[in-house]
Amino acid sequence: SIPLSFFSGIGFASKNGILIKGSNYLEALRSVDTVVFDKTGTLTKGVFNVTKINSVGISEENLLEYAAVAEANSNHPIAKSILSYYNKSVDLEKIESYEEIAAYGIKVGYNGEHILAGNEKLMRKENIFYSPAKEVGTVVYIAVNKVYRGYIVISDEIKEDSIDAIKHLKSMGIKEVVMLTGDNEKVANNIASQLGLDKVYSNLLPNEKVDKLEEIYEGRTEKEKVIFVGDGINDAPVLARADVGIAMGGLGSDAAIEAADVVLMTDEPSKISKAIEIATKTNKIVW
Ligand code: ADP
Ligand code: MG
Repeated sequence: SIPLSFFSGIGFASKNGILIKGSNYLEALRSVDTVVFDKTGTLTKGVFNVTKINSVGISEENLLEYAAVAEANSNHPIAKSILSYYNKSVDLEKIESYEEIAAYGIKVGYNGEHILAGNEKLMRKENIFYSPAKEVGTVVYIAVNKVYRGYIVISDEIKEDSIDAIKHLKSMGIKEVVMLTGDNEKVANNIASQLGLDKVYSNLLPNEKVDKLEEIYEGRTEKEKVIFVGDGINDAPVLARADVGIAMGGLGSDAAIEAADVVLMTDEPSKISKAIEIATKTNKIVW
């Protein structure tokens, strides 16, 4: 039988905007020693500003237009940010083909041209001769008809809540706070140092995020539980693998909310320590 304290814990958590899908997760939350965060939309706002446009052989305006065309059908925070900066409409009827490759970028056929918009991995995969950006930021490289046309640098901000959230987790005695990201090393390291994270892994594909989680599990006992927190875009496999997969419910995708064990109503990383606290305290209530 399930002790009443479990129900009170789940009920109290839900009053705090933390939806726990079962008493087993409440129990697991009591013995967490590692918290793994995704970056975009989880520790950062997921809202990027364009900070630099570097075009090659075409105008900056032209480059931006190619990027907007490529991103027009994507739901990724990068796409939304580029389109809002472009601030014009894209003629969707001219899109002849479309492929979004998770953690790489976009391939699109438009008005007789073939556009690539994505990271260095995409450029290498498509054999594009490009020159790497020097700026620190998330970089969208663009090629048209296999010819490199430049890059757009975009920057996201750390959520104000993330700083306290990490401090609080450390002060509670969480052994390791880790970040996994598909974004580049410069961006990842910059955030890790600002937040005082213990470990950071960058340039990861969705399946490589699962591999990293497996690595974290190695040499660990049943009593050392691992949380993964993500906004969900491409994160469903990692959410499912973690002892406690936590999805940001606000920005998060339906797939993530489905795959998660815990859903946060508001996208605040500080809810993680709150969830652990509630789980720990409700266990002490004697009925
Ligand atoms: P994160 O791990 O930070 O949540 P993702 O796994 O969603 O990031 O994406 C990893 C990287 O893949 C991005 O930083 C970007 O370089 C590239 N990428 C993903 N989607 C897009 C897109 N729609 N346009 C351009 N680049 C993209
Ligand atoms: Mg993500």
